[in-house]
Amino acid sequence: MSLQFRDLHRQYEALRSPIDEGIQSVINTTAFISGKQVKELEQTLASYVGVRHCISCGNGTDAITISLMALLDDVPEQEYKNMAVFVPDFTFFSSGECPAALGLSVYFVDVKRGTYNINATELEKSIQKVKAEGKHKPFAVIAVDLFGQPAEYDAIRSVCKKYNLFLLEDGAQGFGGRIGDKLVCSFGDISTTSFFPAKPLGCYGDGGAIFTDDDRLADLVRSIAVHGKDTSNLSDPMAKYNNIRLGMNSRLDTLQAAVLLAKFPHFISFELEQVNTVAAWYTERLESVGELILPMILPGYDSSWAQYTIQLPSNVDRDEVQKRMKENGIPTMVYYKKPMHKQGAFRDTVGEKAFCPVTEQLCESVLCLPVHPYLEESEVEMVCEGLRQIL
Ligand SMILES: *Cc1c(COP(=O)(O)O)cnc(C)c1O
Repeated sequence: MSLQFRDLHRQYEALRSPIDEGIQSVINTTAFISGKQVKELEQTLASYVGVRHCISCGNGTDAITISLMALLDDVPEQEYKNMAVFVPDFTFFSSGECPAALGLSVYFVDVKRGTYNINATELEKSIQKVKAEGKHKPFAVIAVDLFGQPAEYDAIRSVCKKYNLFLLEDGAQGFGGRIGDKLVCSFGDISTTSFFPAKPLGCYGDGGAIFTDDDRLADLVRSIAVHGKDTSNLSDPMAKYNNIRLGMNSRLDTLQAAVLLAKFPHFISFELEQVNTVAAWYTERLESVGELILPMILPGYDSSWAQYTIQLPSNVDRDEVQKRMKENGIPTMVYYKKPMHKQGAFRDTVGEKAFCPVTEQLCESVLCLPVHPYLEESEVEMVCEGLRQIL
């Protein structure tokens, strides 16, 4: 089989029997919505991440929206447009889409060239500027663990404290990553992840989850995710017909929970370590290739390597590199080609106020190489040799 960017086939081959058994057991019970595997998964993941609550939901985008709705619970809706949310300019669209779709005012903040994550100094400058302008009130920061590495939470957390802002961690790409002994999805007042198939821990369709230590937020999240149901009696199956606020329908299917439960033990016992080994094979081989900038993992940080993203020198034609890699059977991707503030959805509104030169430069130069726990050393060698020759 040809080289895959993220090889879900090989993973299935390795885990076929627990996955098949998990799926079959859901079909046997026909509890397709809110079956016992959902609760079991939530308990397993909450205890792994080290937080009090994990609430699963339909996808990583809903997870962000639901979390924001919970944080906004006591804010009147007509105030939303006056509230500022700070989001990195270099990220997947959802991180900025969700706050904007709720009617909040989004400000895009530049990232660091080495880590691709939000720059806490730029974040503070942006907050100060918004305060000085006086039009919007700073409300929350959405920090993203891009490509698998946690953002710099010591610095971000102290900025949030200083200006009294909520911190939402978008850990969609970082699940399994850590800083010291603290895991991704434990850094925010509320944190989110995605189980989209290509993420570090992926299911077989859409899925997501929300993590928090805050009992009140957890209760709100459980309510919002199921039509604003009354959560005062969780064991009451009729509670979803007692709707005490407006919410949405965003649940993780039992089948997806079963797939995740089947994958999870292997994720923590093998995949996380192995994907780090694969990343190290790349780094070893590419270090000597002149002028490439390789992903930088901060001391004490661990990445779950959703992507292995390099930066090409400015005189190299990236389209040509991708084309020639493809001719050699090597798939590559560009995450991301466009700064958030230049996306059509934002261009004419908040976008034009953004000044994010690092993001603009990254969008021109980044290239993502195939990375996953089932890549072999000889394949990494082939990718690196291919790249070396083209450059
Ligand atoms: C994938 C992703 C999301 C959205 O997750 P979905 O499950 O696809 O909705 C949000 N934020 C980031 C950074 C992502 O990479």
